[in-house]
Amino acid sequence: MALERTFSIIKPDATRRNLTGAIVKKFEDAGLRVVASKRIHLSKAQAGEFYKVHAERPFYDELCEFMASAPIVAQVLEGENAIAKNREVMGATNPSDAAAGTIRAEFAESVGENSVHGSDAPEAAAEEIAYFFSGLELVG
Ligand code: UDP
Ligand code: MG
Repeated sequence: MALERTFSIIKPDATRRNLTGAIVKKFEDAGLRVVASKRIHLSKAQAGEFYKVHAERPFYDELCEFMASAPIVAQVLEGENAIAKNREVMGATNPSDAAAGTIRAEFAESVGENSVHGSDAPEAAAEEIAYFFSGLELVG
């Protein structure tokens, strides 16, 4: 299995509670390497563009408000099978369904304010990485 890259966001509920380091430790303990990282504060329009696949869902407006409510940490994670591995470390979308030890089980506040985003497929990972980072910012 070749090295793979995935895109991650540490969401506003987590940056607000100073959980960036605790979450990155979960990634690193799982064998994922942070190869790009920046802390930024999205506008609602930028959050809306990022989450446009969910534009028709009932929670879309609230999700965009939330993602623009405080800084996020956008990262590229690299490792063997990084997309699936990151989803495993994150846990299920709803923290009440998330397996013990996962980021969402330990840190998420609700199904909406659930601490992390992670790409769900290679095409999504490539698109999401390109939305946040230039090639020069992917430093290995
Ligand atoms: N979300 C929400 N209510 C829901 C489902 C999802 O607020 O009923 C939010 C939540 O923040 C989630 C994001 O929308 O992480 C994207 O949803 P998706 O189904 O892609 O979940 P994920 O891939 O983040 O596990
Ligand atoms: Mg998703």
